[in-house]
Amino acid sequence: MTFLTGWGRTAPTPATLVAPRTVAELAALVAGSPPRGLIARGLGRAYGDAAQNAGGLVADLTRLEPRWSLDPATGVVTASGGTSLHDLMTGLVPKGWFVPVTPGTRHVTVGGAVAADVHGKNHHLDSSFGAHLRSLTLLTADGTTRVLTPSDEAFWATVGGMGLTGVVVEASFGCVPIETSRVAVEVTRTRDLDHTLEVMAATDDGHRYTVAWVDLLTRGARMGRGVLTRGDHARRDEIPHAGDPLAFAPAARVAAPPWAPDGLLNQVTVRAFNQAWYAKARERRVIQDIAPFFHPLDFMEGWNRMYGSRGFVQYQFAVPFGAEGTLRRVVSRLSAEGVVSFVPVLKRFGPGTPGMLSFPLPGWTLALDIPAGLPGLARLLRVFDTWVAEAGGRLYLAKDARMRAELLPVMYPRLAEWARIRRRLDPEGVFRSDLARRLGL
Ligand SMILES: Cc1cc2nc3c(=O)[nH]c(=O)nc-3n(C[C@H](O)[C@H](O)[C@H](O)COP(=O)(O)OP(=O)(O)OC[C@H]3O[C@@H](n4cnc5c(N)ncnc54)[C@H](O)[C@@H]3O)c2cc1C
Repeated sequence: MTFLTGWGRTAPTPATLVAPRTVAELAALVAGSPPRGLIARGLGRAYGDAAQNAGGLVADLTRLEPRWSLDPATGVVTASGGTSLHDLMTGLVPKGWFVPVTPGTRHVTVGGAVAADVHGKNHHLDSSFGAHLRSLTLLTADGTTRVLTPSDEAFWATVGGMGLTGVVVEASFGCVPIETSRVAVEVTRTRDLDHTLEVMAATDDGHRYTVAWVDLLTRGARMGRGVLTRGDHARRDEIPHAGDPLAFAPAARVAAPPWAPDGLLNQVTVRAFNQAWYAKARERRVIQDIAPFFHPLDFMEGWNRMYGSRGFVQYQFAVPFGAEGTLRRVVSRLSAEGVVSFVPVLKRFGPGTPGMLSFPLPGWTLALDIPAGLPGLARLLRVFDTWVAEAGGRLYLAKDARMRAELLPVMYPRLAEWARIRRRLDPEGVFRSDLARRLGL
């Protein structure tokens, strides 16, 4: 038995970790899975318990027939489910292609990106990962593989379906042509939350990638002030001539200390960081490499240990346009209570995909990392859950570790439709996870 957690390092549970190398081996594991079932695991970057399965099997997909290929005429990539976006970028960027959507870390797998229907800084224009998929090969509970396309309902039950419809063994998706491996970035500071929302709504569509960092420790008139970062793939004529315009060589990763004292990220340290971050963010236009722009945290390996022994919770919610009042209410309460969150991120979502359990909806999303040991945290987040549900919003299952099951059908109104398709694909409930048991999925 191996004790596994998600990226937030809360709630470890023991499971038998297996690492099939072929689809036939995986099919045999599925057929012989114990009563507690089996769940796929990629690189374990879901924050909560989505890729854990207490007492059952957890299948590490990263060694399953690793391969990927690019059709240079169409930009369509076909990759095995365990391929990481890091490996894809390493191969694709020098050829002038970029993945259609990347989350804030490259260390996720294609299967994990499909299962969570991940979004990036380009959601307002390009939607989420599922919108770019051409087909999926899914290993289902009966041990057979089937190729699904966007015209199949099982396809959209799998996109965002958190691994509960089967194992994605291969996926094909369209990529984006790029002239360089650099990003032309504009940095803008905002005065307060309303100003942040106003500038984003007015100017986001002019940039492919946008995100705002929000200072949650300022109160009063400056509450919710932020730093907007907006970028586009740089054209060849925008970058200096020296060197290979398509070079992709992210800096070597430094390791976080193996141990950090509990409470290291507290009001004093985070306030000092926020002040420095806001002050440093002069209005400017810069050329950045892909890694620091898209994946700044990847630079430090194991940074999740900095939250100390109790780990941390990521709270990410989305509310529809028109529910800005709920966003303001949450930010104002966090700021009033002085809740410590390192680098809270606000994005503006565009249209979602038909994925029944897919998280993004047209509106706003706020993501916060909060130390799990913070006194009163559970009570506070329960209040936020209610506000978000009342506003027609939802929590992101790939980040969740603690929401109540009864809110799930409210937040995901197509849950019953998803459950019907899932029952058809997996009548015995072979695919199971801690998240599924906790939320009754
Ligand atoms: C620093 C950081 C930043 C992040 N930023 C973002 C962001 O900007 N946007 C965003 O959307 N997400 C973001 N995430 C979350 C992350 O993108 C998702 O949790 C993603 O699913 C992780 O992929 P993984 O390969 O590590 O999967 P895991 O964490 O191992 O598993 C996640 C889910 O995918 C399922 N799964 C994995 N592989 C397969 C497969 N082959 N077939 C079927 N199901 C499978 C698992 O069963 C589980 O339900 C971030 C995470 C981190 C740590």
